[in-house]
Amino acid sequence: MVVVLLLGFYSVTSAAAQTAAEPLSKTYRVTRANDVEFQKIEPFKVFDNLYYIGPGYVSVWLLTTPEGNILFDTAQEPYVDRVISNIRKVSVDPKTIKYIILSHGHLDHFGGAAKIQEASGARVVAVEQDWKMIEQVGSRPDAKGGPAPRVPKRDMVVKEGDTLSLGGQSLKFHQTPGHTPGVLTTEGITVYDGRTPYKAIVWGGAGYRGGLADAEESLQSANKVAQIQGVQVNLQIHSWAGDDGYPGGGVLERGMMLKSRKPGDPHPFVDPATFAKWVKRAQDEAAKAVEVEKKKAAAR
Ligand SMILES: [Zn+2]
Repeated sequence: MVVVLLLGFYSVTSAAAQTAAEPLSKTYRVTRANDVEFQKIEPFKVFDNLYYIGPGYVSVWLLTTPEGNILFDTAQEPYVDRVISNIRKVSVDPKTIKYIILSHGHLDHFGGAAKIQEASGARVVAVEQDWKMIEQVGSRPDAKGGPAPRVPKRDMVVKEGDTLSLGGQSLKFHQTPGHTPGVLTTEGITVYDGRTPYKAIVWGGAGYRGGLADAEESLQSANKVAQIQGVQVNLQIHSWAGDDGYPGGGVLERGMMLKSRKPGDPHPFVDPATFAKWVKRAQDEAAKAVEVEKKKAAAR
Protein backbone atom coordinates (compact mmCIF):
# COMPACT_ATOMS: atom_id res chain seq x y z
CA MET A 1 0.00 0.00 0.00
CA VAL A 2 2.76 2.40 0.92
CA VAL A 3 4.61 1.61 -2.32
CA VAL A 4 1.52 2.41 -4.41
CA LEU A 5 1.11 5.77 -2.67
CA LEU A 6 4.75 6.69 -3.20
CA LEU A 7 4.65 5.75 -6.88
CA GLY A 8 1.59 7.92 -7.34
CA PHE A 9 3.33 10.78 -5.62
CA TYR A 10 6.52 10.61 -7.64
CA SER A 11 4.79 10.28 -11.00
CA VAL A 12 2.95 13.56 -10.37
CA THR A 13 6.20 15.19 -9.23
CA SER A 14 8.18 14.23 -12.32
CA ALA A 15 5.33 15.27 -14.63
CA ALA A 16 5.25 18.71 -13.02
CA ALA A 17 9.04 19.02 -13.20
CA GLN A 18 9.16 18.06 -16.86
CA THR A 19 6.61 20.62 -18.03
CA ALA A 20 8.32 23.60 -16.39
CA ALA A 21 11.41 25.21 -17.96
CA GLU A 22 12.80 25.54 -14.44
CA PRO A 23 11.31 24.50 -11.10
CA LEU A 24 8.90 27.07 -9.68
CA SER A 25 10.92 27.29 -6.50
CA LYS A 26 14.01 28.33 -8.44
CA THR A 27 12.06 31.05 -10.22
CA TYR A 28 10.96 32.46 -6.86
CA ARG A 29 14.31 31.99 -5.16
CA VAL A 30 16.66 33.11 -7.93
CA THR A 31 15.35 34.15 -11.33
CA ARG A 32 12.65 36.56 -10.13
CA ALA A 33 13.73 36.97 -6.51
CA ASN A 34 13.49 40.77 -6.71
CA ASP A 35 10.32 40.96 -8.78
CA VAL A 36 8.01 42.24 -6.04
CA GLU A 37 4.73 41.92 -7.93
CA PHE A 38 5.62 38.39 -9.08
CA GLN A 39 6.43 37.40 -5.50
CA LYS A 40 2.97 38.46 -4.29
CA ILE A 41 1.27 35.11 -4.80
CA GLU A 42 -2.28 34.16 -3.90
CA PRO A 43 -2.71 32.43 -0.54
CA PHE A 44 -3.70 28.78 -0.68
CA LYS A 45 -5.26 26.25 1.62
CA VAL A 46 -2.89 23.38 2.35
CA PHE A 47 -4.87 21.51 4.99
CA ASP A 48 -8.33 22.12 6.47
CA ASN A 49 -6.69 24.20 9.22
CA LEU A 50 -3.54 25.45 7.48
CA TYR A 51 -2.90 28.10 4.84
CA TYR A 52 0.18 29.34 2.99
CA ILE A 53 -0.12 33.12 2.98
CA GLY A 54 3.45 34.29 2.36
CA PRO A 55 5.17 35.66 -0.73
CA GLY A 56 6.82 33.21 -3.14
CA TYR A 57 10.27 33.01 -1.56
CA VAL A 58 9.68 32.95 2.19
CA SER A 59 6.96 31.07 3.99
CA VAL A 60 4.23 32.40 6.22
CA TRP A 61 1.95 29.68 7.58
CA LEU A 62 -1.44 30.34 9.17
CA LEU A 63 -2.75 27.61 11.47
CA THR A 64 -6.38 27.98 12.50
CA THR A 65 -7.96 26.65 15.69
CA PRO A 66 -11.42 27.09 17.24
CA GLU A 67 -9.86 29.30 19.95
CA GLY A 68 -7.78 31.59 17.77
CA ASN A 69 -5.06 31.33 15.20
CA ILE A 70 -1.31 30.98 15.01
CA LEU A 71 1.08 32.48 12.49
CA PHE A 72 4.49 30.99 11.75
CA ASP A 73 6.80 33.78 10.54
CA THR A 74 5.77 37.04 8.91
CA ALA A 75 7.88 37.70 5.78
CA GLN A 76 9.32 41.24 5.48
CA GLU A 77 8.70 44.51 3.66
CA PRO A 78 7.50 45.16 1.02
CA TYR A 79 5.26 42.11 1.53
CA VAL A 80 3.72 42.66 4.94
CA ASP A 81 0.51 44.39 3.81
CA ARG A 82 0.08 41.59 1.32
CA VAL A 83 0.48 38.99 4.11
CA ILE A 84 -2.22 40.80 6.09
CA SER A 85 -4.54 40.98 3.09
CA ASN A 86 -3.86 37.29 2.39
CA ILE A 87 -4.98 36.50 5.94
CA ARG A 88 -8.29 38.26 5.17
CA LYS A 89 -8.50 36.56 1.77
CA VAL A 90 -8.68 33.14 3.41
CA SER A 91 -11.54 34.49 5.56
CA VAL A 92 -9.52 34.92 8.73
CA ASP A 93 -9.79 38.14 10.74
CA PRO A 94 -6.25 39.27 11.67
CA LYS A 95 -7.61 40.09 15.14
CA THR A 96 -8.11 36.36 15.76
CA ILE A 97 -4.37 35.68 15.55
CA LYS A 98 -3.16 34.93 19.07
CA TYR A 99 0.48 34.01 18.48
CA ILE A 100 3.17 34.87 15.94
CA ILE A 101 5.91 32.23 16.22
CA LEU A 102 9.24 33.34 14.76
CA SER A 103 11.52 30.64 13.35
CA HIS A 104 14.68 32.72 13.79
CA GLY A 105 16.13 36.20 13.97
CA HIS A 106 16.62 36.96 10.28
CA LEU A 107 14.66 39.88 8.85
CA ASP A 108 13.05 37.91 5.99
CA HIS A 109 11.19 35.91 8.67
CA PHE A 110 10.45 38.49 11.38
CA GLY A 111 10.31 41.72 9.34
CA GLY A 112 6.50 41.84 9.39
CA ALA A 113 6.08 40.93 13.06
CA ALA A 114 5.65 44.47 14.44
CA LYS A 115 3.02 45.45 11.87
CA ILE A 116 1.11 42.18 12.13
CA GLN A 117 1.24 42.33 15.92
CA GLU A 118 -0.29 45.80 15.74
CA ALA A 119 -3.04 44.57 13.39
CA SER A 120 -3.78 41.50 15.50
CA GLY A 121 -2.81 42.04 19.11
CA ALA A 122 -0.97 38.70 18.94
CA ARG A 123 1.87 37.70 21.23
CA VAL A 124 5.20 37.37 19.40
CA VAL A 125 7.19 34.25 20.29
CA ALA A 126 10.94 33.74 19.85
CA VAL A 127 13.90 32.38 21.77
CA GLU A 128 16.14 34.62 23.87
CA GLN A 129 19.13 34.61 21.50
CA ASP A 130 16.98 35.56 18.51
CA TRP A 131 15.23 38.34 20.46
CA LYS A 132 18.72 39.77 20.91
CA MET A 133 19.34 39.58 17.15
CA ILE A 134 15.96 41.21 16.47
CA GLU A 135 16.78 44.05 18.85
CA GLN A 136 20.16 44.57 17.16
CA VAL A 137 18.54 44.70 13.71
CA GLY A 138 16.12 47.30 15.04
CA SER A 139 18.91 49.48 16.43
CA ARG A 140 21.00 50.09 13.31
CA PRO A 141 20.51 51.27 9.71
CA ASP A 142 19.10 48.72 7.27
CA ALA A 143 21.23 46.95 4.63
CA LYS A 144 20.98 49.93 2.27
CA GLY A 145 21.90 52.50 4.93
CA GLY A 146 18.30 53.63 5.40
CA PRO A 147 16.40 53.86 8.69
CA ALA A 148 16.47 50.80 10.96
CA PRO A 149 13.75 48.26 10.14
CA ARG A 150 10.74 48.22 12.44
CA VAL A 151 11.06 45.32 14.84
CA PRO A 152 8.70 43.85 17.41
CA LYS A 153 9.32 44.60 21.09
CA ARG A 154 10.62 41.64 23.09
CA ASP A 155 7.50 39.69 24.01
CA MET A 156 7.21 35.96 24.72
CA VAL A 157 10.52 34.20 25.30
CA VAL A 158 10.46 30.42 24.94
CA LYS A 159 13.13 27.82 25.47
CA GLU A 160 13.82 24.14 24.87
CA GLY A 161 10.90 21.97 25.95
CA ASP A 162 8.35 24.76 26.45
CA THR A 163 4.83 24.02 25.25
CA LEU A 164 1.94 26.07 23.98
CA SER A 165 -1.66 24.87 23.88
CA LEU A 166 -4.45 26.52 21.91
CA GLY A 167 -7.70 25.17 20.49
CA GLY A 168 -6.64 21.51 20.45
CA GLN A 169 -3.07 22.21 19.34
CA SER A 170 -0.26 21.18 21.68
CA LEU A 171 2.90 22.69 20.33
CA LYS A 172 6.32 21.83 21.69
CA PHE A 173 9.35 24.05 21.18
CA HIS A 174 12.97 23.15 20.63
CA GLN A 175 16.01 25.37 20.41
CA THR A 176 18.01 24.26 17.40
CA PRO A 177 20.80 26.85 17.01
CA GLY A 178 23.32 26.99 14.18
CA HIS A 179 21.60 28.97 11.44
CA THR A 180 21.32 31.76 14.06
CA PRO A 181 22.22 31.62 17.78
CA GLY A 182 18.56 30.89 18.60
CA VAL A 183 16.38 29.03 16.04
CA LEU A 184 12.97 27.87 17.18
CA THR A 185 11.71 24.52 15.96
CA THR A 186 8.04 23.73 16.61
CA GLU A 187 6.75 20.16 16.72
CA GLY A 188 3.31 18.80 17.56
CA ILE A 189 1.40 20.85 15.00
CA THR A 190 -1.70 18.87 14.00
CA VAL A 191 -3.10 19.46 10.53
CA TYR A 192 -6.25 17.87 9.15
CA ASP A 193 -7.05 16.48 5.74
CA GLY A 194 -10.73 15.66 6.08
CA ARG A 195 -10.93 13.60 9.25
CA THR A 196 -7.32 12.46 9.09
CA PRO A 197 -4.86 14.25 11.38
CA TYR A 198 -1.19 14.54 10.48
CA LYS A 199 1.79 15.65 12.56
CA ALA A 200 3.62 18.66 11.17
CA ILE A 201 6.84 20.41 12.09
CA VAL A 202 8.44 23.80 11.46
CA TRP A 203 12.21 23.33 11.56
CA GLY A 204 13.36 26.86 12.26
CA GLY A 205 16.47 26.78 10.06
CA ALA A 206 19.40 24.46 9.34
CA GLY A 207 23.05 25.06 8.53
CA TYR A 208 25.56 27.18 10.44
CA ARG A 209 27.21 30.57 10.42
CA GLY A 210 30.89 29.54 10.34
CA GLY A 211 33.53 28.34 12.79
CA LEU A 212 33.93 25.09 14.70
CA ALA A 213 31.70 25.94 17.66
CA ASP A 214 28.77 26.86 15.39
CA ALA A 215 29.31 23.79 13.22
CA GLU A 216 29.21 21.57 16.32
CA GLU A 217 26.09 23.35 17.50
CA SER A 218 24.40 22.81 14.14
CA LEU A 219 25.26 19.10 14.27
CA GLN A 220 23.70 18.81 17.73
CA SER A 221 20.63 20.63 16.43
CA ALA A 222 20.26 18.38 13.37
CA ASN A 223 20.61 15.36 15.69
CA LYS A 224 17.94 16.82 17.95
CA VAL A 225 15.52 17.23 15.03
CA ALA A 226 16.28 13.64 13.97
CA GLN A 227 15.08 12.51 17.42
CA ILE A 228 11.62 14.00 16.89
CA GLN A 229 9.35 11.10 16.06
CA GLY A 230 6.38 10.82 13.76
CA VAL A 231 6.79 13.88 11.56
CA GLN A 232 4.56 13.51 8.49
CA VAL A 233 4.42 17.08 7.17
CA ASN A 234 7.36 19.45 6.83
CA LEU A 235 6.28 23.10 6.90
CA GLN A 236 9.35 24.59 5.23
CA ILE A 237 10.34 28.13 6.19
CA HIS A 238 11.28 28.81 2.58
CA SER A 239 9.12 27.59 -0.25
CA TRP A 240 12.21 26.38 -2.09
CA ALA A 241 13.89 24.44 0.71
CA GLY A 242 13.28 21.04 -0.85
CA ASP A 243 14.92 17.78 0.08
CA ASP A 244 17.24 17.97 -2.90
CA GLY A 245 17.34 21.64 -3.83
CA TYR A 246 14.48 22.75 -6.02
CA PRO A 247 12.88 19.94 -7.98
CA GLY A 248 9.87 18.22 -6.57
CA GLY A 249 10.41 19.20 -2.96
CA GLY A 250 9.31 22.76 -2.43
CA VAL A 251 6.11 24.24 -1.05
CA LEU A 252 5.08 25.78 -4.37
CA GLU A 253 5.53 22.59 -6.40
CA ARG A 254 3.48 20.69 -3.85
CA GLY A 255 0.90 23.47 -3.94
CA MET A 256 0.53 22.89 -7.69
CA MET A 257 0.08 19.16 -7.09
CA LEU A 258 -2.55 19.93 -4.46
CA LYS A 259 -4.49 22.01 -6.99
CA SER A 260 -4.79 19.09 -9.39
CA ARG A 261 -5.33 16.47 -6.68
CA LYS A 262 -8.23 14.12 -7.33
CA PRO A 263 -10.41 12.48 -4.67
CA GLY A 264 -8.51 9.56 -3.17
CA ASP A 265 -5.09 10.88 -4.22
CA PRO A 266 -2.50 11.12 -1.44
CA HIS A 267 -1.95 14.58 0.03
CA PRO A 268 1.22 15.97 -1.58
CA PHE A 269 2.39 17.61 1.66
CA VAL A 270 2.19 14.35 3.64
CA ASP A 271 5.66 12.97 2.95
CA PRO A 272 7.50 11.59 5.99
CA ALA A 273 10.11 9.84 3.81
CA THR A 274 11.32 13.06 2.21
CA PHE A 275 11.45 14.80 5.58
CA ALA A 276 13.53 11.95 7.02
CA LYS A 277 15.85 12.14 4.02
CA TRP A 278 16.23 15.89 4.47
CA VAL A 279 17.07 15.53 8.16
CA LYS A 280 19.63 12.83 7.35
CA ARG A 281 21.23 15.07 4.75
CA ALA A 282 21.38 17.95 7.24
CA GLN A 283 23.07 15.65 9.78
CA ASP A 284 25.61 14.50 7.18
CA GLU A 285 26.33 18.05 6.05
CA ALA A 286 26.71 19.26 9.62
CA ALA A 287 29.08 16.38 10.41
CA LYS A 288 31.13 17.26 7.32
CA ALA A 289 31.19 20.93 8.37
CA VAL A 290 32.54 19.94 11.78
CA GLU A 291 35.40 18.03 10.10
CA VAL A 292 36.17 20.94 7.77
CA GLU A 293 36.19 23.41 10.67
CA LYS A 294 38.40 21.10 12.74
CA LYS A 295 40.95 21.01 9.92
CA LYS A 296 40.80 24.78 9.55
CA ALA A 297 41.30 25.22 13.28
CA ALA A 298 44.24 22.78 13.28
CA ALA A 299 45.91 24.62 10.36
CA ARG A 300 45.83 27.90 12.25
ZN1 LIG B 1 17.71 32.74 7.96
